[in-house]
Amino acid sequence: MLLVMKFGGTSVGSVEALKKVTEIVEKERRQGHALVVVVSAMSGVTDLLLTAARKAEAGDETAARQARAEINRKHAVVLDHFLGRTPQRAEVWEKIDALLNEFEALCHGIHVLGELTPRALDVIGGLGERISVPQVAAILRQAGLPSQGVEATELIVTDDRFGSAVPLMEETSRKTRALLHPILEAGVIPVVTGFIAATRDGIPTTLGRGGSDTSGTILGGALQAEEVWIWTDVNGVMTTDPRVVPEARSIAHLSYAEISELSFFGAKVLHSQAIRPARRYGIPVRILNTFEPSHLGTLITEETRECRKAVKAIAAIKNMSLITLEGAGMAGIPGVAGRTFTAVGRTDTNVLMISQASSEQSICFVVPTADVNKVVKALEAELSREIERRDLDQIEWENEVVVLAVVGAGMKGKPGISGRLFGALGQAKINVIAIAQGSSEFNISLVIPRSEADTAVRAIHREFELSLNDDL
Ligand code: ADP
Ligand code: ASP
Ligand code: MG
Repeated sequence: MLLVMKFGGTSVGSVEALKKVTEIVEKERRQGHALVVVVSAMSGVTDLLLTAARKAEAGDETAARQARAEINRKHAVVLDHFLGRTPQRAEVWEKIDALLNEFEALCHGIHVLGELTPRALDVIGGLGERISVPQVAAILRQAGLPSQGVEATELIVTDDRFGSAVPLMEETSRKTRALLHPILEAGVIPVVTGFIAATRDGIPTTLGRGGSDTSGTILGGALQAEEVWIWTDVNGVMTTDPRVVPEARSIAHLSYAEISELSFFGAKVLHSQAIRPARRYGIPVRILNTFEPSHLGTLITEETRECRKAVKAIAAIKNMSLITLEGAGMAGIPGVAGRTFTAVGRTDTNVLMISQASSEQSICFVVPTADVNKVVKALEAELSREIERRDLDQIEWENEVVVLAVVGAGMKGKPGISGRLFGALGQAKINVIAIAQGSSEFNISLVIPRSEADTAVRAIHREFELSLNDDL
């Protein structure tokens, strides 16, 4: 069977991790599976690249050189261990060097121009995967596993939304099959860059931060793989982020719909766009731990499995702002909600949650804080007359809020869930600013102040006994 296996930043981020990767690949190959391996940049590298580019724009000439030294060091440790002083090492190093020359040249250009475009940012951000791939391919070859590095710009076709491009699946499938089938038929493992892609015209794009998961499911869909396995540093999807609640437990099974809600609302373990290609082609996805490969992790499929627990998991998405439209004359303004969201839509901003009071006196909605200024500007322009006439108050917004999503298919039709939820939050003295229930009925979203987010997650986790070991 054909498996696509994606290894994240931590999984390719150290000698220890890469030893595990080699063992995992070896084992699955011994089982007779055809494999496509997708890899991220070594952990920390993408941040180093992007930060240096931003600093170059701000006038810092030396940042790129420093970042390069740091990236060189990370890779040298790994190459020294696996390849020693071999010609294979020299070959990989030459590729890394050429790509980092490109990086320094790009940063120099940005520094001279004083301008960093989203398009340039994608070229720079994607370099981490491009230097990771030849390294991983060489390590696998050294272990006797025939492997060949492939750049996903040759496979994945996207639109031109730089920074969070969307795949065009038909074209992607055609290109991916044409290029990867012959490699697979020759018994070779393609080792493909995660995160990056290209437009129809070949201009490099990225799928958004954390997007290598999505590269994995896109390739899985394009090749109609049997399954996609996402190897990371935790035992699958857990009841909440284990960094916030150490007693969080792993969840054996989730439906596509449930994981979509969780990843949309910030469960970093899977990129928010990753499930779409898998769902479209009905490909099961497993989330597995590179550092504990025998753990079964989480299986994600179309079906919703019966489970005694109504609430299965909690996600939290930070750096959000809540915008409120209010005014005595609000009810009398025709189409105000439509006009509001059309204006927001024109700014290309992701609206995470909407809540309207039934009195029609107010609408509030959540957007990423990074976008709040442009959204408010667009709304002030659209509604200027109403604001002037005092039908609407000045637009207000609150930064430093967090959206919590409480998710579980068993919540549907089960009375008393919100009662317990708000009871627990009340007891923990959490100030809930706004609430929305997803139309799917298996997600309740809450807006709360940033400072209370972790306490709220812990309170909900406790109330629904998510750390207790039964049938999750
Ligand atoms: P990778 O580099 O492998 O892509 P990420 O750091 O992107 O890994 O994602 C894994 C991390 O996601 C975990 O280490 C964990 O801290 C975090 N995380 C957040 N929410 C969850 C959750 N519900 N279940 C598991 N991990 C979560
Ligand atoms: N390296 C990219 C990032 O850090 C993509 C990924 O790791 O999934 O965002
Ligand atoms: Mg990730």
